[in-house]
Amino acid sequence: MTNKNETLFNRAQKTTPGGVNSPVRAFRSVGGTPRFITRAEGPYFWDADDRRYIDYIGSWGPAIVGHAHPQVVSAVQVAAARGLSFGAPTEGEVLMAEEICKLVPGVEQVRLVSSGTEATMSALRLARGATKRDKIIKFEGCYHGHADSLLVKAGSGLLTFGNPTSAGVPEDFSKHTLVLDYNNCEQLEEVFQSIGDQIACVIVEPIAGNMNLIRATPAFLETMRRLCSAHGSVLIFDEVMCGFRVGLHGAQALYQVQADIVCMGKVIGGGLPVAAFGGRADLMGHMAPLGGVYQAGTLSGNPVAVAAGMTTLKIIQEDGFYETLSAQTRKLVDGLAAAAKEAGVTFCADAVGGMFGLYFAAKVPTSYAEMMASDKEKFNRFFHLMLDAGVYLAPSAFEAGFVSIQHDDAIVDATIAAAMQAFAQL
Ligand code: PMP
Repeated sequence: MTNKNETLFNRAQKTTPGGVNSPVRAFRSVGGTPRFITRAEGPYFWDADDRRYIDYIGSWGPAIVGHAHPQVVSAVQVAAARGLSFGAPTEGEVLMAEEICKLVPGVEQVRLVSSGTEATMSALRLARGATKRDKIIKFEGCYHGHADSLLVKAGSGLLTFGNPTSAGVPEDFSKHTLVLDYNNCEQLEEVFQSIGDQIACVIVEPIAGNMNLIRATPAFLETMRRLCSAHGSVLIFDEVMCGFRVGLHGAQALYQVQADIVCMGKVIGGGLPVAAFGGRADLMGHMAPLGGVYQAGTLSGNPVAVAAGMTTLKIIQEDGFYETLSAQTRKLVDGLAAAAKEAGVTFCADAVGGMFGLYFAAKVPTSYAEMMASDKEKFNRFFHLMLDAGVYLAPSAFEAGFVSIQHDDAIVDATIAAAMQAFAQL
């Protein structure tokens, strides 16, 4: 059935580690053969055997206006014809910075980079440079890209500084990273009480999307805001995934909590490599060439990528965009939950704006540990039943899903119909 996908996967594994350029694409968690994608349009993409799927990963977030949106494609074509990269500033970068500063609360200055990893890595360096402190706090289950000091999982218990979770990361690089439990205010209080004056920054996904979808409690974000302000630490919201996804002004607006630095990515590139970090002008003034914190990029602010990003940012500001996106996503998860209930399957779902979580668990998880306790085997079977029915979900029980503005009623209904069949077979 999947001949060309299989052939490509076999070939790919000879020249590329695991056959993929980013691990989750390999279907390791769910098993089976990854689909090699040939083209995409609106809410769909097609694999190498020309099978069509309703796409619920949307390139892991960027495809919020749907694939190959005519306005985005046209902007890219126009920009490409003018030259692909200059290594000198452009008007497009000025417009994009102005747009981001207009849309993201508290961001007075922003720097464009090419990936979320660069954004968070640079934000950490900035926080450390500005505070002249080394230690950072992150939370278990939050992913902030693959910079060395962020690839850390806590040892057990409080105040255990990090052991690297990736080979190739020296302990010396991760020893300043303290990993705490998501949504645990008491732990945060205790740590700040004992070593608050050594903490350069707290970095958090204010709505976590890398341990499936887990919402922060308002108290959790308010506590870290208060503690960071009291101890002179920098609060970094990693909104690479949730920014422009949960609402036009991101998680900061939803929670009414303002970070000192915000990291952005995915949606702001509209499918091409643009990411960014920004914040108050006095903090951003520490960046080279003004200040001593170095950061740079040959392709930063690339004109073709910026054209795709700017056009996407324009489309998401159209009247009713987020109302529609949220309503469709809510309709999807409610429909899936109802279908599971009907089939007697233990399942629940949650959605914020255009991102969603599916859990084979009795209640929506609030921490990494709770998420890990969900039924992974059931998810894997569900994933393959849905895939066979032409619905492409995230190929892991621990990833969030994404809806685009092109996922209309017919698409959502078709997905729920497929899920009814799948739940019945579990
Ligand atoms: N931060 C978050 C919250 C992310 O979800 C991701 C990617 N999924 C990153 C950072 C890293 O972004 P990139 O893959 O573009 O390096």
